[in-house]
Amino acid sequence: MIKVGLLKADKYDKYLKDKINHAVELVGGFGSVVKSGDRVLLKPNFLVAKAVETATNTHPDFIAAVVEILSDYNCKIAIGDSPMFGTAYGVVKKLGLDQKLKKYDVEYLEFKENKPVSQQEDGLKPRKYRDLCTATVLQEFDRIINLPKLKTHAQMGITLATKNLFGCVAGKVKLKWHMVAGSIHNFARLLVEVSQTVNPDLNILDGIIGMDGNGPANGRPRKTKVILAGKNCIALDRVVVELIGKNPSRFPIFKAADDLSIPGTRLEDICILGDSIEECRIKGFKVISIFPADFIGVHFLGLPFKPLFDQRMVVKHKNCIMCGRCIEHCLSKAIRKEDGIVIDHDKCIKCCCCQEGCPTNAIHIYTPPLGTLVNKIRSGRSR
Ligand code: SF4
Ligand code: SF4
Repeated sequence: MIKVGLLKADKYDKYLKDKINHAVELVGGFGSVVKSGDRVLLKPNFLVAKAVETATNTHPDFIAAVVEILSDYNCKIAIGDSPMFGTAYGVVKKLGLDQKLKKYDVEYLEFKENKPVSQQEDGLKPRKYRDLCTATVLQEFDRIINLPKLKTHAQMGITLATKNLFGCVAGKVKLKWHMVAGSIHNFARLLVEVSQTVNPDLNILDGIIGMDGNGPANGRPRKTKVILAGKNCIALDRVVVELIGKNPSRFPIFKAADDLSIPGTRLEDICILGDSIEECRIKGFKVISIFPADFIGVHFLGLPFKPLFDQRMVVKHKNCIMCGRCIEHCLSKAIRKEDGIVIDHDKCIKCCCCQEGCPTNAIHIYTPPLGTLVNKIRSGRSR
């Protein structure tokens, strides 16, 4: 059985360090992961420099508590990421993390260069993406600890432990991979392959205040009140999906993991330790529904009917400040400036990079009513 530790936690307070220690203890403890003198890389979710209250990034108190624990183990600690927008240190400054960690000898890293990861190194079934590469600097560490945030994600439905590891691909190459993958299902496969390639030693999810709605940057901060820990990122994500009461078939990473025979997608294979699912249930969590691109009706009815079902990116012009960031991040060149921002739906690959990067919550993913209906039928009306 794969162990996942689950604990209720409703505040970033003075008990946080104990809570995190307890959650990790349930899956073997920090002592099973690190030893004195280890170089440990912490990989938080740093998306863009936004205020702590927006719940866009892993909470600074959460990261600080993990740093404190690792310092007790006499580890050499680095915090690194490659945010989609701006720099990792820009996020650190915005969150005030550098001030919180002043007394610790912590290194802050920007992931800049990538190194190809050969198939032999990760031991996976044959990869679809043979020329995958991840940040060169990862090789310098004895241990990697993943510190994701509980948030929705326009393209994948949700971003948790697995999706967070895509930040280990340095720089704008991430945008290229969106293009290479093309469809949502291919991109999910890529994410799972990256997660297994990085293969973190431990995942600890900051789910105390999460984000639902139009995530991962512009959603609604929600008191989700949980901490999860585990060594298998897929299993940890699967438990969160149970907590929010959604059908796992709505989230393409689980199908991608099944295709690669990676364990952790079935609740029967997971031993949940600590508090129960019922005690930690997250009610009314709103995720963006992903329209199944492989829905046979679209192919059967033909292209003229596609707009009746198909999801598309839409601009709320009253929110748009014409900053042009979406144009800059659209590798498909599907966005142009006229009197307002215009999206060419024929060119758009629905990577959602524009939606993630929009500073004013002006870009949303729209699902027509028929698409919503199909989603409900396919994934079960109640979930
Ligand atoms: S990123 Fe948002 S605010 Fe900026 S131009 Fe695009 S839609 Fe408008
Ligand atoms: S318009 Fe937005 S979702 Fe579509 S390809 Fe460009 S960045 Fe991606």
